Amino acid sequence: MSLKDTIHQLTNEHMTHGDDGGFHKAPPLLAELRAACGSNMGAQGGGSGGMGMIVNHKAVKLENDIKSKALAEHLAMTGNEYRGGLVDLLHAWSTAASTEWQPYLEGVTQTWINDIKEMLVSKRPPWRPSIPCPACGQRFYGPEREPCLAVHHWDEDADEMAPPSQWTANCDGCKAEWSGDELKWLRAASNTPTANVAEVAEVN
Ligand SMILES: [Zn+2]
Repeated sequence: MSLKDTIHQLTNEHMTHGDDGGFHKAPPLLAELRAACGSNMGAQGGGSGGMGMIVNHKAVKLENDIKSKALAEHLAMTGNEYRGGLVDLLHAWSTAASTEWQPYLEGVTQTWINDIKEMLVSKRPPWRPSIPCPACGQRFYGPEREPCLAVHHWDEDADEMAPPSQWTANCDGCKAEWSGDELKWLRAASNTPTANVAEVAEVN
């Protein structure tokens, strides 16, 4: 990609390759990042459940990092402090960056694209306890013999283990789902009836 292409993805609606192999229209990545800042998108299980707006701290930090890096690069390149918004600054780069700066800025903007995409999809893999599914009785399913149970125990927003009361679980084999108190079987089946399930998850 050229610098114009990377900036286009960050600041304009663009075509992107979907999971189904087709091309789809995608919103500007900086707009997606902005939207993620004020929601729990990409932060499964985040938020305290209060009435206030849920803030995705990872997204806010990434947006701030991008802004300050952009301003610093602009100052280094032009000797001038930029006073406008980030999108205008990037558009200025895509038309005015000199030939010797273009490959460098292309690398910088490509890193932002990767960081934003990673933030939007970031999820820890679920905990896969090696016990049979209480609904279908299986531990593995399908021709690949994949593990049935997935326990979603990580608070992506806080980047720490969620309180066990907020965990959810599902069986990829029979599609059963559990949350909250329905997860009591997990503690029992882990053969540690007195231990905190959170400790069980950490040793696995
Ligand atoms: Zn099952």
